[in-house]
Amino acid sequence: MDLLDTLTAKGLRGDVPTREEALAVLATTDDELLDVVAAAGKVRRRWFGRRVKLNYLVNLKSGLCPEDCSYCSQRLGSKAEILKYTWLKPEQAADAARAGVAGGAKRVCLVASGRGPTDRDIDRVTDTMAAIKDADPAVEICVCLGLLSDNQAERLKAAGADAYNHNLNTSENTYGQITKTHTYADRVDTVQKAHGAGLSACSGLIAGMGESDEDLVDVVFALRELGSDSVPVNFLIPFEGTPLAKEWNLTPQRCLRILAMVRFVNPDTEVRIAGGREVHLRSMQPLGLHIANSIFLGDYLTSEGQAGQTDLDMIKDAGFEVEGAGEATLPRHRADVAEAVAASGCGTTAGGCGTAAPSCGSGGGCGPCGGHAEHAAAPATPAEATNDELRDDLVKVRRRGAGTELAPNA
Ligand code: SF4
Repeated sequence: MDLLDTLTAKGLRGDVPTREEALAVLATTDDELLDVVAAAGKVRRRWFGRRVKLNYLVNLKSGLCPEDCSYCSQRLGSKAEILKYTWLKPEQAADAARAGVAGGAKRVCLVASGRGPTDRDIDRVTDTMAAIKDADPAVEICVCLGLLSDNQAERLKAAGADAYNHNLNTSENTYGQITKTHTYADRVDTVQKAHGAGLSACSGLIAGMGESDEDLVDVVFALRELGSDSVPVNFLIPFEGTPLAKEWNLTPQRCLRILAMVRFVNPDTEVRIAGGREVHLRSMQPLGLHIANSIFLGDYLTSEGQAGQTDLDMIKDAGFEVEGAGEATLPRHRADVAEAVAASGCGTTAGGCGTAAPSCGSGGGCGPCGGHAEHAAAPATPAEATNDELRDDLVKVRRRGAGTELAPNA
């Protein structure tokens, strides 16, 4: 297929496809799916080999959020029967992190619900990071606390954080339909604050909220422009008790096409299969590894994933290997860019410091909350009408690990 030959050639050079080519990936048929996966797989192997980076989530503070992100089980007014607890003590969080690292995770993601941190919250997270790094200085720490105020990113960087997560989640056009309590521009601002402070930017999206193909392409190009070093791709987990509980719009085939599009637009960027992997890719998860180079190990913030050992077995069986602590995730030239950005204090890697690109984060969009989103916008162009059957039997609320007496799944 000419399209795939073109995309493969561009991806192997590190070049970005056109918007039309990205849309065409989403429009491919099921008969073409394995060719799409194979083409994206060539690009993935060019930049990341057969390595799979494992990330481990620790939910520091769960539920009771004042924000109204409609995809999120922790949102204001959520009836989802998730765990609700306030800040874990540093030792409790460090215990959970240790379990993830022992299971093979290279990065620990410290997440707290809420619009954004107070300065006291930054102190708490500083103590938690110290407890984790005292035990293992090689652990990468990504923090996700929502919208950042001035100087908070600098404080986190000085305290040892390596990265900050704040997802854009969806296109600028539709953002106002999934969240009313903050804006897309707020999110971009926080990603830029984090990047400008020298933190690696982790910012991604949520698919399956009723968005159009154009929305998906818009947000993925925005993430590219923003200079996100890692792009988590969440597939909406429609929790009962949230506005998007009935939004079952994804099939495994659709998820693979979305992942492939994200890979082609971000050939040399970490692409992570995030929340919803087990729920929506199901038995097709190993094919996702041919496209993405990163996943979460074990459970998510408010929902349970498959057993950590099953993650490890899947990686091995599919012919991939877990990325070691001493191995660089990004290709050398991307690491150079990240270092240059940190040195210059510039918030973006593309288009100069004035370029705005939204970000992620919690102030709505902590990575894989496992939440839903209210009916997103009426799509500009109807997204593929997949109408996956309602599979709420696959959504398992997290009942173990952080905030419970039970051992973490790692
Ligand atoms: S995504 Fe973050 S900010 Fe939004 S409701 Fe959930 S926890 Fe709150």
